[in-house]
Amino acid sequence: MESDKRARVEAWLRYGADLELGPYYRNRVATGSTPPSNADATSQTGELAHPAMSAAARAPSVASSVGLAPATASLPIAAASSRSSAAVPFAQAPSLFEASDRIKDDTFQLIRETIGDCTRCKLHKARTNIVFGVGSMKAELVFVGEGPGHDEDIKGEPFVGRAGKLLTQMIEAMGLRREDVYICNVVKCRPPENRLPEKDEITTCSPFLFRQIDVIRPKVICALGSCASQTLLQTTQGISRFRGEWFDFRGSKLIATYHPAYLLRNPSAKSEVWKDLQKVMGVLGLQPKRK
Ligand code: URA
Repeated sequence: MESDKRARVEAWLRYGADLELGPYYRNRVATGSTPPSNADATSQTGELAHPAMSAAARAPSVASSVGLAPATASLPIAAASSRSSAAVPFAQAPSLFEASDRIKDDTFQLIRETIGDCTRCKLHKARTNIVFGVGSMKAELVFVGEGPGHDEDIKGEPFVGRAGKLLTQMIEAMGLRREDVYICNVVKCRPPENRLPEKDEITTCSPFLFRQIDVIRPKVICALGSCASQTLLQTTQGISRFRGEWFDFRGSKLIATYHPAYLLRNPSAKSEVWKDLQKVMGVLGLQPKRK
């Protein structure tokens, strides 16, 4: 944003805060979202080739066995980032409007019935199955991906292909089983040729995701990759600018990390992801699984 516009917006927000109008507006100051200085070049998907950090997280044996972190590295688990806040980048907390758009007594069954044999967006034309989501409705942790790929479209279940296998390994490294968490996507139908979901598709489908999250009310949401994190945080910033930071999302804590498919292409980023997952484990009181 140009500096004069930013100054005017900031002045306007300060004015609102002085009037104690905060609850009526989205809180646009993230909990520690100043970008790291090395995070600038964005790839097509907004996922950056992040240089390996010098001190990676201490790796438990299972984590290192799936390549999440080198066994020799060490870094303490931090429940929240100490980075300073940046003004205006995100819609962080639920506004009154968001809180009021929760559907009372909503259920997965109702959501699935409402979706029906959906033809609301063009993705329905090539899909085999609607991929609703999988896992525990009582999960404390929800993973949100982008959209189904080929394997998911065939099976009707999210994250069952190569990236899904890596996600399952990540979940197990955290001391959990796949069935302990909930896994879903921003869009429920496969984008053709595995392209990114388009804006209109995301706008059409994401309200169902929000309803699923509202039903579960997890402690932590882990957004996997740019599409999920940008959709949930309502930002266009590249993920490497805010990955590993904590945000509030409709009463849950939200952290963004790289997508497992990105890790398959860039294994050196696994140590970064493992650090993010350790933060999640800190909040959930989880111990890493030993071999
Ligand atoms: N990638 C995603 O984002 N979601 C899936 O379900 C599978 C791969």
